[in-house]
Amino acid sequence: MTRVKKIILEEKDMPTRWYNIVGDMPNKPLPPIHPGTKKPMTKEELSVIFAEELINQELSQESYIDIPEEVQDLYKIWRPTPLVRAYNLEKALDTPAKIYFKNESVSPAGSHKPNTAIPQVYYNYKQGIKHLTTETGGGQWGSALSFVCKHFNIDLKVFMVKVSYYQKPYRKIMMNTWGADVIPSPSTLTSAGRAALEKDPDCSGSLGLAISEAVELAVQNPETTKYTLGSVLNHVAIHQTVIGEEALTQMEIAGDMPDIVIGCFGGGSNFAGLGFPFLRKNLKEGKNIRILAVEPQSCPKLTRGKFHYDFGDSAGLTPLIPMYTLGHSFQPSDIHAGGLRYHGAGAVVSQLLKDGLIEAHSIPQLETFEAGMLFANTECIIPAPESTHAIAMAIREAKKAKEEGKSKTILFNLSGHGLVDLYAYEQYFAGNLQNYDISDAMINESLSELDKL
Ligand SMILES: *Cc1c(COP(=O)(O)O)cnc(C)c1O
Repeated sequence: MTRVKKIILEEKDMPTRWYNIVGDMPNKPLPPIHPGTKKPMTKEELSVIFAEELINQELSQESYIDIPEEVQDLYKIWRPTPLVRAYNLEKALDTPAKIYFKNESVSPAGSHKPNTAIPQVYYNYKQGIKHLTTETGGGQWGSALSFVCKHFNIDLKVFMVKVSYYQKPYRKIMMNTWGADVIPSPSTLTSAGRAALEKDPDCSGSLGLAISEAVELAVQNPETTKYTLGSVLNHVAIHQTVIGEEALTQMEIAGDMPDIVIGCFGGGSNFAGLGFPFLRKNLKEGKNIRILAVEPQSCPKLTRGKFHYDFGDSAGLTPLIPMYTLGHSFQPSDIHAGGLRYHGAGAVVSQLLKDGLIEAHSIPQLETFEAGMLFANTECIIPAPESTHAIAMAIREAKKAKEEGKSKTILFNLSGHGLVDLYAYEQYFAGNLQNYDISDAMINESLSELDKL
């Protein structure tokens, strides 16, 4: 009998609605708070930085939100994405577990980020916005936003975390190809950037700092310029649920249902995108699917952080968000999974973790690269350093299934490919990568400033 390797949907089977898990959460997430007034942010206050429709989605308690037809049409450039059975990886592990992955690496930018870039730019365009600003870590968000801004003829400035700017020059060239202006952060263009450089001229930057710079630029011209964020916020997670909605349909076609769903975790968007439609099965149908978020050992906000209101950026310009955080001044090590170097987690994911509805795990850098190598040499796709965290966790679970002699079904999100991250692989081959086990003292130091908020 021939076996099915991948399950491909037709365009007509793509979801026409996004899922908003807030509608089904037993405890709703706490609201974002204004750092000055200490009151929940109003729509008017939020509209200084974000497009109005995105704010409506951010605060929505509706379980479903229609996907505009123009957005659906743009999704068709690469969606639906394949659901793949990792037979070769299973064989290499000699595991009774079935391993599937959702391949989000097939987008033009090579990651899941365009799933939210398209609607974010679309709603800004509808509102008449002419300029967008943003930050980017590994460069995936900036490149996703670049090609969509080009489509809608919107001018884009991207603050790129300095360590990635130099480690990943080709992402910058992708963004330039699609017409965006890319600035290494910290820069001298903003007071947040200048302050960071004054404190440390060699500062390698962080996502939090780059966000400060991008927000600072946007609020100077709120009529024509808005800021966009590629992760963390609820509207981003909502847009990403196209991943999980497709995957649900595809698992049904495969005649299977996962026992374990895994996503790597930066701010939570690819994890939420795949995981939340499956979590709905737990909340609404009494299923017991384990939903696992995987973060780097060197940036452990979910496993070692504190649930507290904190800024989304390092300079303290954003609203206060209720989150698992390491403190907004936490400076993560220069690991190669740039997209996972962020101090906090989104409000929705944080509440779900607090309520025990999802699990969090952390994995050291070398184990993730070993997992990435095994994946590249079995399933043949070179994964993004971020995605290797999900792969490493899938491998841990598959090995456990073998030890326990149980057949489990594991589904993970391949959030991106690593073809623009080959520098990281080069460093791995050269033996230059290391694990970073951070001390409690270091975490406590950046957490201590939360008491001042
Ligand atoms: C940005 C990125 C991540 C991390 O961001 P999340 O919002 O947590 O998904 C993970 N993988 C890839 C490939 C990315 O580009």
